[in-house]
Amino acid sequence: MKRIVRAPAKLNLGLDVPYTHPDGTIEWRMVMTSIGLSDHVQIETNSSSRIRIISDSGFLPNDKRNLAYQAAHLFLRHTGVKSGLTITIEKSIPVAAGLGGGSSDAAAVLRTLNEMFATGLSLAEMAKLGLAIDSDVPYCVYGRTALVSGRGEIVTPLKSLPKMWFILAKPNVSVSTPRIVRRLRHIQIDHPDIDGLLAGIMQSDYHQIVASMGNTLEPITTANHPQIQVIKERLLKYGADGSQMSGSGPTVFGVCHSESRARRVYNSISGFCHEVYVTQPINHGASL
Ligand code: ATP
Repeated sequence: MKRIVRAPAKLNLGLDVPYTHPDGTIEWRMVMTSIGLSDHVQIETNSSSRIRIISDSGFLPNDKRNLAYQAAHLFLRHTGVKSGLTITIEKSIPVAAGLGGGSSDAAAVLRTLNEMFATGLSLAEMAKLGLAIDSDVPYCVYGRTALVSGRGEIVTPLKSLPKMWFILAKPNVSVSTPRIVRRLRHIQIDHPDIDGLLAGIMQSDYHQIVASMGNTLEPITTANHPQIQVIKERLLKYGADGSQMSGSGPTVFGVCHSESRARRVYNSISGFCHEVYVTQPINHGASL
């Protein structure tokens, strides 16, 4: 048996941290959406009893530290399915960029194995399994625009976004999410207008959505990587209606209402930042 699936990246239109638990774990309140930029994950059964990871990225571990490996391992243990698996990951989503690539690969593995072996797990069951891997995996299991809260396990799907385009620009640095999150204890937290964002999505009001975007982690990552602020300003100058960092960064995205404007912004920022993408929201997670 063999399947090939697309595992889409995510963007945080809103990211708030209402509370940090005494043990250091985080309560999130995030509005997330999936986008067209995707990895390809191929899963093939084999007659061994091992999970083998192959990837085209020199930055990724090919052992149990790979989130796709962890997803396969958890799935086999939870369902009792016995099979060897070869998982080949073709990366297009930049690694450690705030775009949830590892979590999306893991969610794609859970959903695909559930389909391949007809194990009948619900999305909620797979999301619960995925939470043990990373707080973004439950969102990626659903994969559509959603409010994500708690430690990442409460995923409330929302209406699809109105027509909009994203221009992504990734500075040439990688960011460790745990390191950024640890800094939260030491700063005055700025809370973005998540309720305004939810109202904008409910009303399909593009301008309200853009006006309500915000990311609590942005000042922390920007303090170490000031080029994030420079890219944000350039995206606005070149014509984006709004711009912000995704997740713990460092990727910055600009938002435009029309494709023609988005392509102009893309062309202008391409001369300034070498890793740039133009894409749209999609309303599904991993797809065959
Ligand atoms: P986060 O979900 O924590 O915001 P991110 O989007 O910034 O993460 P990822 O690309 O998911 O970043 O990578 C986070 C870490 O996970 C990296 O250190 C990377 O080596 C590791 N990792 C393990 N498996 C994968 C995978 N399949 N794809 C990408 N990264 C992976």
